[in-house]
Amino acid sequence: MAKNEKTEVEILKDKLCYEPDNAASVLDDSEIAAGDAFCEKYMSFLNSCKTEREAAAFFKALAEEKGYTEFDKTKKYKAGDRVYRYNREKSIMLAVFGKKSAAEGVKIAAAHIDSPRLDLKPNPLYEDDETAFLKTHYYGGIKKYQWTAIPLSMHGVVVLQDGSKVTVSIGEKAGEPKFVVTDLLPHLAAEQMKRPLSEGVKGEELNILIGSRPFKSDSGSELVKLNILKLLNEKYGMTEKDFLSAELEMVPAFEVCDIGLDRSMIGGYGHDDRVCAFPSAMAVFDVEAPEYTCITVLTDKEEIGSDGNTGLNSSYFKYFVCDIASLEGLDGRDVLSKSECLSADVNAAYDPTFSSAFEKRNSSFINRGIVVTKYTGARGKGGTSDASAEFVGKVRRIFDGANVVWQVGELGKVDGGGGGTVAKYIADLNVDVVDVGVPVLSMHAPFEVVSKLDVYMAYKGFKSFFESKD
Ligand code: MN
Ligand code: MN
Repeated sequence: MAKNEKTEVEILKDKLCYEPDNAASVLDDSEIAAGDAFCEKYMSFLNSCKTEREAAAFFKALAEEKGYTEFDKTKKYKAGDRVYRYNREKSIMLAVFGKKSAAEGVKIAAAHIDSPRLDLKPNPLYEDDETAFLKTHYYGGIKKYQWTAIPLSMHGVVVLQDGSKVTVSIGEKAGEPKFVVTDLLPHLAAEQMKRPLSEGVKGEELNILIGSRPFKSDSGSELVKLNILKLLNEKYGMTEKDFLSAELEMVPAFEVCDIGLDRSMIGGYGHDDRVCAFPSAMAVFDVEAPEYTCITVLTDKEEIGSDGNTGLNSSYFKYFVCDIASLEGLDGRDVLSKSECLSADVNAAYDPTFSSAFEKRNSSFINRGIVVTKYTGARGKGGTSDASAEFVGKVRRIFDGANVVWQVGELGKVDGGGGGTVAKYIADLNVDVVDVGVPVLSMHAPFEVVSKLDVYMAYKGFKSFFESKD
């Protein structure tokens, strides 16, 4: 027998057994270089967009640069035309008209652009023992202790008394001040250290340090607070009452960076879910003359359950598809019923340090490409859409046909916890949907980690779905 001939066992194993691939092992050097180059653009996006408003504005500006126009349901569109609809500056839908009638359905990728963070309360500013703080109410699922003693920046909008709106961003540019939630030194934390981890730092202890120098005066109280108000007034024209009509978000002020000596990974804030939003937007931007009309929806409010009129549990997306349907005199529900969607959201990457939280055979791993998550939910698949074998089978053929490295994954062990995505709200519209996204380490931490090749596979995966002929 020649030395490199396969044994019968090896031949049978090749034919019958399934082993997921490591993208770094199966992709050739040019693809790996293309992936790294794609991630440069992603990292620059991640550095410049820390909130849903900033991401929505970024994609709107880029869409306009690429010839997208605001959708007008009274106009006629032809195959290849590109439109967008902006929803309240917090979500955006990007569409390319296909060659086929919308009667045959549309292809959708749905990602979210909100991330866990600390929101300011409506009445946030106070002075305590000659130090000024801002009260926060956390947004989304966080481990609160992770948000102390790290640099934070402030982003958002303030609507002033006269109705004008000012945009706030402090702490991102070089030379700007940053903010922080203080924590107790270990020397004096004997009591705190006895608390369970979930209460190590409590919600009402997530107070932002914003100032310490009093306004110079011989008399008067709360002069540190007054000084902060004076600075805010000088910069933004706002008064304390204007906090009531503001949306101000405190987010980590870390720079996005390569992780690892091999530079194979990216560390940064808000990979969940901008790591799917960016590739799904690039996929719709780059798809040329698709068969089906393709839509990427970048939504808000996923981290708090998709409620609210910028979240996918609202009708805004449905109305957009209905308006596309009406261009051809079709019923929106007939278009939706024939449509397909990749719910583009991240999954938890297997972490060897915390292996007991995972069931290894059904976990996603970094570098094994995008993860297809058939169902999420908790307690016996509660609260999930559970994609059909037929639709998963179709997505599988599309990915394999386009040499997309992909894997399957559940969200952790059975009864280990759980979670959800926008998939169930898309399924509610009678659309075939499955979750497809990038595996993330330290998900929902202020600094999350993804693999560069997985990010690139997300782009290739969404693009192959949009380019599919059936
Ligand atoms: Mn997510
Ligand atoms: Mn999330």
